[in-house]
Formats: sequence, C-alpha cells, structure tokens
Amino acid sequence: MEIILATRNKKKAEEMTRILGGMGITILTLNDFPLCPEVEEDRDTFEGNAMKKALSAARHTGKIAIADDSGLEVYALHGAPGIISARYAGKDANDTANIDKLLNEMANIADAERGARFVCCIAVSFPAAAPIDTSRDAAENRVVTFFGFVEGRIGKEPRGKMGFGYDPIFYPEEYNRSFAEIPSNEKDALSHRGRAIKKLKDYISSQAVPFYKGN
Ligand code: IMP
Repeated sequence: MEIILATRNKKKAEEMTRILGGMGITILTLNDFPLCPEVEEDRDTFEGNAMKKALSAARHTGKIAIADDSGLEVYALHGAPGIISARYAGKDANDTANIDKLLNEMANIADAERGARFVCCIAVSFPAAAPIDTSRDAAENRVVTFFGFVEGRIGKEPRGKMGFGYDPIFYPEEYNRSFAEIPSNEKDALSHRGRAIKKLKDYISSQAVPFYKGN
C-alpha cells in the first residue's frame, strides 16, 4: 500500500522510508503529485502546521498522508525560535545565520540557564473514505498526531560538521558532544524526530485495518 509524505524534501522521504522499511508500505512524496498545492505553515503550533500539511495532502491525493513539523525551543527565550526555527534570522536565512542570531541572543545567558529542547510533531491524516478514529469529534477525526522531544542545552559556539540546522550548538542531555558530532544512526535513536517516528511506527503496526485495507 501507498502513503504520501507531505513534503518535497528528498532527505525527509529517505529517512522515513528507511525507518518504515519492511512494513510493506510504499512512500510517495508531493513530488509524485505536482498539482498538489503548497501549504503555508501559518499555524501557531508545530501540531497545527503538521496537521494542516497532512490534511491537505490526504484531501488532494485521496491517500493516507503523513506530515511533520519540528524546531528548537530555548527555555530562556520563552520557547524561541520555536515554529520559526527555519527562518529565525529571516525568510531566506541559512543554518549559519540562524545559529549566529541565536548565539547573539543568548550571549549574556549563563551556562545553567541554557536549557533547550527539540520538538517534532508528526500528523497522519486519513482520506474521508478510510476508517476513522471515532474517539475524536467529527472535525478532528481524520487526523492523529505523535510528538517526540529531546532535552539538552545550547553551547557557546558551533562544534561538529554532521547533521543540519542547529545541530552544531545543541548538546543532548548527558552528552558532551553536540548533535553535529554524533553520527546519524546514533542521533536517530535519541532525536525528537526519531522518537516521533518510533511512535508512528508503533501506531501503524497496531492499525492493520486503516493502513492495510483502507487505502
Ligand atoms: P522543518 O520541520 O523541516 O520545518 O524544520 C524546522 C527547522 O527546525 C529546521 O530548518 C532546523 O532549523 C530546525 N530543526 C529541526 N530538526 C532539527 C534537527 O534535528 N537538528 C537541527 N535543527 C533542526
């Protein structure tokens, strides 16, 4: 059976395909549906954006759709950069500009106050004809969500060359290495995205009817 990953990002599709491998699922992406409209990520929560993307893809393709939204929350900055993590330093900002901005904002924050977490929300939306979760109300019952978190702290300068985004300045709890110094298979096991995908995988395994017959 096929599910749509509501992204045009090949890396995300590869990661999901790797993790969901062996479940008999073919992962398609929005690149396979060029007429599917772009969705503006204008909700004020990770969950809102993930749900919006998944619902749109399920409506337009008629297939079960999966979308994710993720970002970094720094406690001393009241959760910033949060949902604007990708564009913290501006609309077309790159990773270096976002890191520089964050380090500047935190220049006067002491070591003990540099706590942060990565958040990932994955939403799964079922097209109207598929069996639904009757425990939710009518407006909501075509989508379910899964969260993953990883707690850590923000360093004072970038370290490491692996990964992407804020990895060079994020130190997961109990590690003296930044995410950019941790190989991807090790990061997958403890990251926010890895943890959310694990919950999704458990859910798929427990939902034989909607995933294997309803699509
Ligand atoms: P999105 O979920 O692809 O929209 O990612 C949002 C942004 O959050 C990314 O562009 C990164 O800046 C940041 N981010 C999300 N996950 C990670 C991660 O695992 N490492 C580093 N940065 C991340």
